[in-house]
Amino acid sequence: MEKGHISVQTENIFPIIKQYLYSDQEIFLRELVSNAVDASQKLNTLARKGVYKGSTENLKINIAIDAEQKTLTISDQGIGMTADEVKKYLNQLALSSANDFLEKYKDEGAGIIGHFGLGFYSAFMVAEKVEVITKSWQEGADAVKWICSGDPSYELEASDKTTVGTDIILYINPEDEEYLEESKIRGLLDKYCKFLPIPIQFGERDEVVQEETGAEEEASADDENKEPKTIKVANIINNTHPLWKKGPSELTDQDYIDFYDELYPYSEKPLFWIHLNIDFPFNLTGVLYFPKINNQLEVQKNKIQLYSNQVYVTDEVKEIVPEFLTLLHGVIDSPDIPLNVSRSALQSDRNVKKITGYITKKVAEKLKGLFTEDRSSYEEKWSDIGVFVKYGMISDDKFYDRTKDIALVKNVADESYTLNEYFDKIKDNQTDKNDVKVAIYAFNKEAQDSYITDATNYGYDVLVLDQVLDNHFIQNIEQKWDKVRFARVDSETVDQLVAKEEKLETALSEKEEEKLKTLFTSTLSIADHQFQIRPLPADSAPVQIVKPEFMRRMEDMQRLQSGQMAMGSMNIYQVVVNGNHPLIAKKLINMRSEDKKQEFTKYLYNLALLNQNMLQGKSLTEFMKQSLEYAGN
Ligand code: ADP
Repeated sequence: MEKGHISVQTENIFPIIKQYLYSDQEIFLRELVSNAVDASQKLNTLARKGVYKGSTENLKINIAIDAEQKTLTISDQGIGMTADEVKKYLNQLALSSANDFLEKYKDEGAGIIGHFGLGFYSAFMVAEKVEVITKSWQEGADAVKWICSGDPSYELEASDKTTVGTDIILYINPEDEEYLEESKIRGLLDKYCKFLPIPIQFGERDEVVQEETGAEEEASADDENKEPKTIKVANIINNTHPLWKKGPSELTDQDYIDFYDELYPYSEKPLFWIHLNIDFPFNLTGVLYFPKINNQLEVQKNKIQLYSNQVYVTDEVKEIVPEFLTLLHGVIDSPDIPLNVSRSALQSDRNVKKITGYITKKVAEKLKGLFTEDRSSYEEKWSDIGVFVKYGMISDDKFYDRTKDIALVKNVADESYTLNEYFDKIKDNQTDKNDVKVAIYAFNKEAQDSYITDATNYGYDVLVLDQVLDNHFIQNIEQKWDKVRFARVDSETVDQLVAKEEKLETALSEKEEEKLKTLFTSTLSIADHQFQIRPLPADSAPVQIVKPEFMRRMEDMQRLQSGQMAMGSMNIYQVVVNGNHPLIAKKLINMRSEDKKQEFTKYLYNLALLNQNMLQGKSLTEFMKQSLEYAGN
């Protein structure tokens, strides 16, 4: 037996490893299983080249818990190590890389969670003693056993292991006994190792055996009570050929849907997907899914998973995937994403920037493809994908350029148009005196019905823009397009939505207007500047409440930021009286009693509030009572 010291400068590495990255402790399993996979793949390569003559047909990795010994063992049938290699790789290389790693990240703490680097020595985060029993693939190599108890000294002795490969035996720390629980290990394997390329066995499972022929016909009450016959089979926890590693041409739609289900069990079917596959200038494979966004919870819970050569790394992909695409689901696998660097370094990495650009381009291309291939299905999906596209257009100019011709708007009649088509459609009727095309929109088809009806009767088309993002979206379009503007249907009275030269004739004399103004401003106690009389179409509401577009947008922004109503927002409303409405021009003007006049003024004002969904509580009750009275008269 040989005894030795690992290295002089590293006296304190073990206590550091044990405490360090405490929250990230569980990655030890990923690191050790990854090493086992590497060792197996290396042996495969040697066999393929004819250097290794033994069989590599059923290479497997085995994970086993021994509750009595309090050990967790990771066994592989890979290349193994000779005594010299153990000394070289485990005592020097592995240790120095662990040392470098700790040196580098001393101050970063949790910042590098999920990223690689600690390697073999991460075993000491959970184990007080580690044994490595290994036999090299090389002819005549003797098996050896390396023992290290979490201090710089190690022992190396002969072992009677007869098969090629390596067993890593972890004597789990008393305080870390959770790693001796089957469910804990199963969970970790499922998280980190689900798609590793070498089969990983964890215990056994029951498999139901199909009964012999004839059993079906004989089915009887008796059989129903009988336990189905089962046998024990190896419980392989991983899918060694995950879908993203295959070629799109060999896959069906159902394959993609099944894989989505494998990634996110019990989630709603995705809308469509993009298969990423590129070798140069970087290597990246993966599948991104567009989810249905009607289920907010699922959209946020199911995150894109980042892999490196099929090893799970993290589901925090903010630095790699543009923010507007982080709501997509799926998998990205790239060995070219540097994993042992901090997040901030990741963001400025050139490869990562290229990868981000590539993903953005692929998504835009996919959307374009859908649009040209099957416009009607694209239109159907728009309510779900619109959010991504708009978000992307706002936040990424390149994406904007790629998608500006396929972004859709929908009008109240449920017809969809691209922006170009739409501005073309409205240009004759909705161009104002300054040659600006005005797109009129409602944020809610039901709530703004009276305004929509007014505008429609006036010959205007009305869009529905009902998403939180739409405010930003239209602002963005106004900035990027020449001479276009968006105006909410209640931002002006219908005659002023698209400001034109011509004016409607007024039915009122100047004196009558003066009287009306006094009546309204005093009865409703509103300021002069809030009040206007206009000659509107006779079928447009008698009193209307409008709010200038820019005011409302400012308020909306404020509300988004502070999460509450902006202060004093009520003051910004304009009260407009339709001087051509018979209830004004004929009825109100000619009323005798001052009391009745005031009462009717209030009533008409309440009607305007009602149209704006601003009439509630007592005022609403009062309004209805009054309506009944007027109806009776
Ligand atoms: P890395 O895997 O990043 O090289 P590690 O600390 O994980 O660093 O491992 C150091 C070296 O030890 C590996 O490069 C490999 O040569 C050797 N090694 C580790 N685990 C095994 C194993 N299961 N089978 C064969 N060799 C191994």
